[in-house]
Amino acid sequence: MENKQIISDINDYTVEKHPNIKNVQIIEGKNNFPISWLNQQGYCEYQICLQYFKDIKVGQTKAMTQGTAEHEKLEARFKETAEIAMQAGQTGHYVLSTIHTIDSVEVLTRLRKIGVSNYDIGSTLATSLSQRLVRRVCPDCAQERDFTEEEKEIINRIARKYHVEYDFKGKKTYTTVGCEKCNNTGFYGRIGIFEVLNITENIKELIVKDASSIEIRNKAIEEGYKPLVIDGFNKIMEGYTTLQELNSKLVIY
Ligand SMILES: [Zn+2]
Repeated sequence: MENKQIISDINDYTVEKHPNIKNVQIIEGKNNFPISWLNQQGYCEYQICLQYFKDIKVGQTKAMTQGTAEHEKLEARFKETAEIAMQAGQTGHYVLSTIHTIDSVEVLTRLRKIGVSNYDIGSTLATSLSQRLVRRVCPDCAQERDFTEEEKEIINRIARKYHVEYDFKGKKTYTTVGCEKCNNTGFYGRIGIFEVLNITENIKELIVKDASSIEIRNKAIEEGYKPLVIDGFNKIMEGYTTLQELNSKLVIY
């Protein structure tokens, strides 16, 4: 279980931060890999993953005897880690991996770019989820108001592209003001907005055919995929954030 934590925290990994972790062979000079494997933080991601993969195999045997499912987490930043994630997925593990890209469809492009084959992506990837954080209006100082005609127009013009239409009847939004509690920013805390790309049979087929992310996105929209902006609109309608804040994070108009 300890190793799982390492992999999910791989960005921040330092020995100081994780003094309890003993069974991972890492750090400069302690492994046989060329220096190019080492990243700036001075650890070898590949080595961690190889060690991790050995542990997965141990875990796999355990899981088979105990009948428990194994959940694995990785960060697919390089070909090696992405391939390990794919191999683990293909051998029946439930793999969760972070990947840095702009949205859930671009995950496919990113995986292709780091060298994972279309066949591997199509046969292994089940779902891709993207998240972005937006600031939440300060509950202490925000001023409730009606949506302006311009705001309604912008929201529904964009939403219609994804077969969504909002009814503003009785709906309010907020003008941010600023108070002591929110350091005069008008916002207090943040909230996540999300989108999910399900890798359906049709999407799989497009991936294997090397279709562009535009083609894949269009097919996904046909099948009900709702992008980040739609969840953002939902959160504006629920009063969590404002159109201006959403635009500052997603640049939608
Ligand atoms: Zn405030």
